[in-house]
Amino acid sequence: KNLKKYFPVGKSSLFGSTNYLKAVDDISFYINQGETLGLVGESGCGKSTTGRSIIRMFDINGGEIYYKGVDISKLKEKKLKPYRRKMQVIFQDPYASLNPTLTVKDLVSEPLDVYHIGNKKERYERVLELIEKVGLTKEHLDRYPHEFSGGQRQRIGIARALSINPEFILCDEPISALDVSIQAQVVNMLEDLQHELGLTYLFIAHDLSMVRHISQRIGVMYLGKLVEIGPSHAIYKNPLHPYTKALLSSVLEPDPKLARENPIRVIEGDVPSPLKPPTGCRFVTRCKYKKKECNNLEPELKEVEKDHFVACHLY
Ligand code: SF4
Ligand code: MG
Repeated sequence: KNLKKYFPVGKSSLFGSTNYLKAVDDISFYINQGETLGLVGESGCGKSTTGRSIIRMFDINGGEIYYKGVDISKLKEKKLKPYRRKMQVIFQDPYASLNPTLTVKDLVSEPLDVYHIGNKKERYERVLELIEKVGLTKEHLDRYPHEFSGGQRQRIGIARALSINPEFILCDEPISALDVSIQAQVVNMLEDLQHELGLTYLFIAHDLSMVRHISQRIGVMYLGKLVEIGPSHAIYKNPLHPYTKALLSSVLEPDPKLARENPIRVIEGDVPSPLKPPTGCRFVTRCKYKKKECNNLEPELKEVEKDHFVACHLY
């Protein structure tokens, strides 16, 4: 609720005051238990910062974070620990996020060690169970991350995230670095695991095609703001925000006939610097529908149809 995360970026010479990069600037949303909320937007729009803020990877500059009704945004480490156990992350680049000096067995059992779960034998059995759940085998346990393909490494990352029975998983671009042929496999596996284990996901991706099949609801971010959020089918059938429309029109159409009728329209102009975002609507510099008030009046998120919200003066 009203989440803000600002990063200090050096001093302004004139007044000695610090400049801030407002990576996430006052956004509110909810995620239902057991669902997947897809969060999309170009790089630098604040989607990873949003995800990392809500699992308390760092302190926030404003707002609240409710986990099953409890505000966890100001909890100190000791009180936060039970919540940390419930929230895990799967990162974009499993090679960078897996310690290269640890074997698969040690990587997957490390969270169990940290939380003192089970004895040695029980941990081994848990690791074996997890590794089989993600489609690897006992023979893989004593190998190191570099011996695996990208898709297999992501499976190891998933097994590790699942080891301590989390309820909520931040999937931070888990398939963006993988070959297209592997992406669907990983998405299908995440979906199966969600149903089997009752997991809730925040699934971050930079384009709408990646979140389409896994998300019940989708949020679209632009320059630190949430510009549209709603049920997936509504976002695809009836996108409201000009930015969402532009994102959708840049999704490749597999049917050549439709592709010819609907050529890809690239959004014109560059993303403005997040250090000095436009006043009014942040999309104003690239929006072909802009009106006079867009220059100085910031649009609020409004519910336009059931559960479908948009921040744009056209509505
Ligand atoms: Fe475009 Fe104005 Fe809507 Fe912003 S508020 S997206 S500038 S029409
Ligand atoms: Mg990111």
